[in-house]
Amino acid sequence: MIEIIGVTKVFGNKTAVDNLTFTVADGEIMGFLGPNGAGKSTTMNILTGYLSATSGKAIINGTDVFEDPKKAKENIGFLPEQPPLYQDMTVLEYLKFVYELRGATLPRKAHLDEICEMTGIGGVKNRVIKNLSKGYRQRVGIAQALVGDPKVLIFDEPTVGLDPNQIVEIRALIKKLGKKHTVILSTHILSEVQAVCNRILIINKGKIVADSPTGDLLKNTAGALKYRAVLATRDMKDALRLVSSVDGVVSVVPDEKSEEGMSAVILESDPSVDVRPGLFRTLASKDVPLVGLENVSLTLEDIFARLTLSGEVK
Ligand code: ADP
Repeated sequence: MIEIIGVTKVFGNKTAVDNLTFTVADGEIMGFLGPNGAGKSTTMNILTGYLSATSGKAIINGTDVFEDPKKAKENIGFLPEQPPLYQDMTVLEYLKFVYELRGATLPRKAHLDEICEMTGIGGVKNRVIKNLSKGYRQRVGIAQALVGDPKVLIFDEPTVGLDPNQIVEIRALIKKLGKKHTVILSTHILSEVQAVCNRILIINKGKIVADSPTGDLLKNTAGALKYRAVLATRDMKDALRLVSSVDGVVSVVPDEKSEEGMSAVILESDPSVDVRPGLFRTLASKDVPLVGLENVSLTLEDIFARLTLSGEVK
């Protein structure tokens, strides 16, 4: 369990984290999102004991990070964006090194074997790290976070730079780890959160702008409907102007894929208004037939953009 209570971090005259409060329960995989500069790294560095907070409390499994950093650290496995791998060591040498460094007490061979099996690196454990693929190196990074069997795992952008197959594998591994651990996954890839996390917390300018189960956020937070409309006109400017004039249309942009001779647009509507009849009538009155209208599901990207651009607190 992770508890952040009223944490603020000020650098000079810049408030990076602003009175942040949240908890992550055991067995939760929480996606931690926000645009660059939102305060994610600062928060993770405070949690992992690398940075002090200006005020507030951070508690890991009942241990106050500031009062007893050593004990708190024993309960945290951290995979930074650049894992601190010793490239000239073999995988096993490196894991033994981390084991000593952490002062782990579980029976060493059995513990490291179990970690290697869990992370799928048993077959490469005698290979030198620098000769491994990026995907395997990332697995080794995850393996080092598991040494000492910490209850809390924090992953910072764990799939950056991996190829699509490796991404799928690493996500599956994180999901599996979430069954036994409390996980914070920091990422800017919203589809990653959809694939892995059961909860999403979005911060912007050091403050929480959304916190809810992943599915609910998709259903509720956006509160808007999105459509793709195809208009029988070549004049995209005219199409945009006409659609945006319809009551309840909040935004409209050209769709990249317009059929020959048509203008396709993506529009978002106020959820309290059914814009379809108005759209149909407006276009008919201007002799621009509406030849297609379909619902497009909102993505987390849409929601994220809206929440962070408006800075609105939910
Ligand atoms: P994120 O990880 O979400 O991109 P950060 O936590 O790195 O955001 O940064 C939050 C804000 O704090 C940014 O405006 C950043 O410039 C500022 N900041 C972070 N670290 C420092 C530092 N050591 N000194 C001064 N400002 C910092």
